[in-house]
Amino acid sequence: MMIVSTLDELRTARLLLDGVVGLAPTMGYLHEGHLSLARRAKAECRAVVVSIFVNPAQFGPNEDLSKYPRDLDRDLRLLESAGVDLVWTPTPEVMYPPGFQTWVEVEEMARPLEGAMRPGHFRGVTTIVAKLFNAVQPGRAYFGQKDAQQAAVIRQMARDLDFPIEIIVCPIIREADGLAMSSRNIYLDAEQRKAATILYRALSAAKDEFEKGERKAGILRQIIKEIIASEPLARMQYVSCSDYDTLQELEKVTGKTLLSTAVFIGKTRLIDNFVLE
Ligand code: AMP
Repeated sequence: MMIVSTLDELRTARLLLDGVVGLAPTMGYLHEGHLSLARRAKAECRAVVVSIFVNPAQFGPNEDLSKYPRDLDRDLRLLESAGVDLVWTPTPEVMYPPGFQTWVEVEEMARPLEGAMRPGHFRGVTTIVAKLFNAVQPGRAYFGQKDAQQAAVIRQMARDLDFPIEIIVCPIIREADGLAMSSRNIYLDAEQRKAATILYRALSAAKDEFEKGERKAGILRQIIKEIIASEPLARMQYVSCSDYDTLQELEKVTGKTLLSTAVFIGKTRLIDNFVLE
């Protein structure tokens, strides 16, 4: 496995990879969710590139950039055993050299949900992903359904800017009790960790009602809100029942739909979602 940091090293290493290259961008502190992207890329592409970069531009001023968990040695061992060919670990100076002033911004798709709660977040995401796409030139790029709006925003960006890259969205990998895997779960103490299953339980309850025939989006949202409100350690930020492609809030579920929520458990912000088909 090749491991590189600078842009020159990345370009030199990239020249050694031929055929379709799959890219999985990450912020490190890897878990099974990240590895599922690398393994899927391995199965579908001739070579796999994983980037590890905690992107300062996608963190708000009061977010967890400085304490975001890191363990590069462990990450590299995991990626090696997943059969990854090339790992790129750029520094902030490589990605944002002095004088940097060009940004990529998706408009409507980036406004609701995470975009409304985290101003500037998606501008940071789309800018870094565009730079990763330009540098790595993958044929396919792998993202997790865990960050459903991110995947939608990136799909839009790739379409609008004519990136010749297939965007592949992989299912959410969960712990045994339903909690979606996330690098941020490490922040939870034992009591909070138990409370954190409330996102999965609330979304599951709404999905059950949908499967029994409920189609009113307001009722599905209400079910989720009430269950989250029943957990004293949880503070809900939003609950959404939106069109899967446009992310516009629905009155009635008729086509592919995204049920999503963001909840603080203590100081830790968790997101999760289910897709209704
Ligand atoms: P991050 O390191 O949090 O930026 O995540 C890197 C990529 O891994 C993103 O495309 C995420 O959506 C994806 N990812 C994170 N957690 C999970 C999960 N539990 N299941 C599937 N994909 C995930």
